[in-house]
Amino acid sequence: MSDIIQLLPDAIANQIAAGEVIQRPASAVKELLENAVDAGASNIQLVLKDAGKTLIQVIDDGCGMSETDARMAFERHATSKIRETNDLFNIRTKGFRGEALASVAAVAQVELKTRRTEDELGTHITIEHSKVVSQEPCSTAPGTSISIKNLFFNVPARRKFLKSDPVETRHIVDELQRVAMAHPDIAFTMLHNGNQTFLLEAGSFRQRIVGIFGKAYNQRLVPVEEETSIVKINGFIGKPEFARKTRGEQFFFVNQRFIKNNYLHHAIQAACDELLPPKAHPAYFLNLTIDPATVDVNIHPTKTEVKFTEEKALYAILRSATRQALGKYNIAPSLDFEQETSFNVPPITKATEIKPPEIKVNPNFNPFDEEQTGGGGSRSAPPKPTARERHNLENWERAFEGLQTISAPEPVQHTLDIELPSSAAAETIPSQAGAPVETAPQASGIAFQLHGKYIVSSIRSGLLVIHQQRAHERILFERFVRAMEQQSGASQQQLFAKTIELPAQDAALVNELMQDLQGLGFAIRDFGQNTFILEGLPADCPEADPAELLESVLETFKHGSTEGNLTQRQRLAKSMAATAAVKAGRFLQPEEMNHLIDQLFACEMPYASPSGKPTVQTLTLPDLDAYFNS
Ligand code: ADP
Ligand code: MG
Repeated sequence: MSDIIQLLPDAIANQIAAGEVIQRPASAVKELLENAVDAGASNIQLVLKDAGKTLIQVIDDGCGMSETDARMAFERHATSKIRETNDLFNIRTKGFRGEALASVAAVAQVELKTRRTEDELGTHITIEHSKVVSQEPCSTAPGTSISIKNLFFNVPARRKFLKSDPVETRHIVDELQRVAMAHPDIAFTMLHNGNQTFLLEAGSFRQRIVGIFGKAYNQRLVPVEEETSIVKINGFIGKPEFARKTRGEQFFFVNQRFIKNNYLHHAIQAACDELLPPKAHPAYFLNLTIDPATVDVNIHPTKTEVKFTEEKALYAILRSATRQALGKYNIAPSLDFEQETSFNVPPITKATEIKPPEIKVNPNFNPFDEEQTGGGGSRSAPPKPTARERHNLENWERAFEGLQTISAPEPVQHTLDIELPSSAAAETIPSQAGAPVETAPQASGIAFQLHGKYIVSSIRSGLLVIHQQRAHERILFERFVRAMEQQSGASQQQLFAKTIELPAQDAALVNELMQDLQGLGFAIRDFGQNTFILEGLPADCPEADPAELLESVLETFKHGSTEGNLTQRQRLAKSMAATAAVKAGRFLQPEEMNHLIDQLFACEMPYASPSGKPTVQTLTLPDLDAYFNS
């Protein structure tokens, strides 16, 4: 028998390859739009007939092609974008495989007109069945216009497979939106069967989102900004109140390329857990700028799924940046926390172990005491504030800037049922021009307590109202988590050791939690037979009855055990915080209030209690004005 293996003719090989690259009109649209972007266009027009089945035309004002390049562009593996293997690891263009035009030419009739600015005449090529049918000089505007007619005319099986025009159009619009969002500096228009369906002018990312999704989005976006050594993040997250039960607009762009990545998606969802109703999906539009060497864009032929070498670090940074952004929004858009964006992550090498994001607090602090109350039992040295804590505090101080206080001659006896601590018996007015006031700006001593429940304080933009119990829970929660992680919780020695006998089930739970309980500052030992000896209590719970505290912690812990997203330590910290936090009705001294405020804003997430309820609300001057004018 003679040899039977033959090389496939180009036209057939291209058709087979086309099956992978061009599945439907939308895939051709994507490739053409990306080529126009890669060509440096500043204006791109998409013209369609019959959902792209009859015509897909893309006109750009990019760099254009020479006569020879225009022909070469349709050869398989013909690309101007990579030359050597190393280039593969530093890809900054959309395309690089050199397959798109060859694939399109195998399954459609193609017409190309292109001219480089430096050439006087352009070139006009028509192609059918992968063969150049004609090429001649032509006069045309600088840039490229490429038309794909009768897609799949020679692959009837494929053509039959296409969905209805509305469905195919939807796919095309998806692709256009993705490319347009990745490149807000490029103007895009879309013309379908003679109707203009998109007119997107060049502008900012926000303008582009609003241009695509409608004006309502302008009010819904919370900016997310973060820059670290491994990634720069910028973009927006949808305000929690607009979150939907169905997955809505969720977009990641990595180096201006739309991508899907479930792991990173989870980071956003996790960041929102504390602030969104259950099962709600946040909208997000996030750009990640990252060293191309750490992204593998090639694991999927249509290139929407990518792999990152530093996935875990990205997760942590993304989650933290989103939390921070939402937290800022939660308090009030009017507070100027804009500066607070830097979050330094040291360069991470492969050998570095990456930990999930952690909450950082100052375990050394007691809001009700200048000094640590740990007595002799303190096991921790006062740690330096972290960069994040410093930032939060600085921002917090900034919120007071521009406020000046005038001391009242005598503590004012209010007839209203508002208790004014003596040092807070001062009226605060914003330093409006023309109203110079006597004393220097003061950041403390201007808080007062309302009904033993709220702390009210002046800030630059109006009034800040703090929910005292929730705020304290947040402070304790973060401190307890830290204490467990570092085994650093201060312990207050009890005068007499207590022996506590517990039901078998609770005893088992105590043993399970033993290390963390000790980390929190419980000096506790297993004495056997479901009995424990308690010699010291966490210093943050000075007044508690030891047995009661332990039992109530166990009780809350047991009831909270169904909360899906919290770790065991977070649950323990949460129930401890709930037990130990100051309750409503407890009157605080001015210093106590100021401490509480300072500490709250030194927290990683000052704006919500560990249960996700708001800790602070603002009443801005416009809010107040509205009250008086209504
Ligand atoms: P790839 O984009 O992967 O390089 P394509 O088949 O999409 O492969 O395009 C092949 C080549 O044709 C590109 O590398 C580019 O040099 C050229 N090209 C395609 N479209 C355009 C365009 N609109 N303007 C200028 N050059 C283009
Ligand atoms: Mg391409």
